[in-house]
Amino acid sequence: PWKDFPMAPPDPIIGLTEAYLKDDSPDKVCVNVGVGAYRCDQGMPFVLPVVREAENEINLEELDHEYSGIAGCPNFVNLALRFVYGEDSVPLKEKRVAGVQTLSGTGGLRVFGEVLHQFGHTHIYVPNPTWGNHIPIFTNAGLEVRKYRYYDNEKCSLDFDHLIEDMKNMPEGSCILLHACAHNPTGMDPTMEQWKEISHVAKEKNLLCFFDCAYQGFASGDARKDAAAVRMFVEDGHNIALVQSFSKNFGLYGQRIGALSIVADSPEEAQRVLSQLKVHIRPSYSNPPRHGARIVAKVLASEQKTQEFVEQCMGMAKRIDAMRSRLRTKLEELGSSRSWEHITKQIGVRTMTWHFHFFSRLYFL
Ligand code: PLP
Repeated sequence: PWKDFPMAPPDPIIGLTEAYLKDDSPDKVCVNVGVGAYRCDQGMPFVLPVVREAENEINLEELDHEYSGIAGCPNFVNLALRFVYGEDSVPLKEKRVAGVQTLSGTGGLRVFGEVLHQFGHTHIYVPNPTWGNHIPIFTNAGLEVRKYRYYDNEKCSLDFDHLIEDMKNMPEGSCILLHACAHNPTGMDPTMEQWKEISHVAKEKNLLCFFDCAYQGFASGDARKDAAAVRMFVEDGHNIALVQSFSKNFGLYGQRIGALSIVADSPEEAQRVLSQLKVHIRPSYSNPPRHGARIVAKVLASEQKTQEFVEQCMGMAKRIDAMRSRLRTKLEELGSSRSWEHITKQIGVRTMTWHFHFFSRLYFL
């Protein structure tokens, strides 16, 4: 039955890693800079000490391996939502946020894409450029993926005027995907004033704002600052949808741990939304794995461990910042005539190093 199956092209990011591993050139860079994972000075994976500590405690508890519920571990979900929306979040206090544990950011994006499609959305707007996987995720969920202008390649900066113009031309009620912080791949985020205007235009056009928050704490080193846009939109009265990933900030890449949440008008509406999320999850993967949820919950439930996490996550962010400065200085010292200011202006682990579509990750430089 498989004789007519064509060979699919390799994934642009994972395929690059495969090609890298196969390449026996003596000149190849000694660490793989293609994969989106933080590395220490020796080019090795880095496990946060607080994550190790939490894991050791969990091991001693000799927990069972029963199924979690369809929506995952409720304790983890509550703590994850408090982490991003903030302790004082009004919708959280009013119990009108529907939340589920997801298979990291990717899984949450897919579940929400499918729910959107089922409830009548035909398309979704994503920034141009965006994280490569957004496009197949939403296409496979049944949505037409449309792009709004985001980045000015010539100026190496946010193309704010065109972004606003494109938002104003979106059909009423459309869903727009926004990167909460450390936009991937440009590393260029709106300022808070610009976020305010985006929020305002989204309100005027009755847009459904869907935040992808893959770098909270890892972007600027300050988890509150990285969540500021999300919190502002909630305060402005948007019933946002939000996907969180704990891959980068906690370094839990392979644990596939994330959360999807939707702000509703009332607790009763939130319950109805939650029921639909569960209807989608059950025939897809039934329920999520437990280990990553236990680790994140163990850290976020403890004030002391949260503080350790904040410091360790900031350590990663600051090291990346220092690499940005070093890269810029080196390029300038080499006598490059063009401006490299954008390298230190952009945040997070990526930078657009040239004004066409090459970008590189800064983990190891
Ligand atoms: N969203 C963005 C913007 C990303 O950059 C990534 C990973 O690089 C993800 C989501 C998904 O990551 P994960 O599925 O590991 O949480």
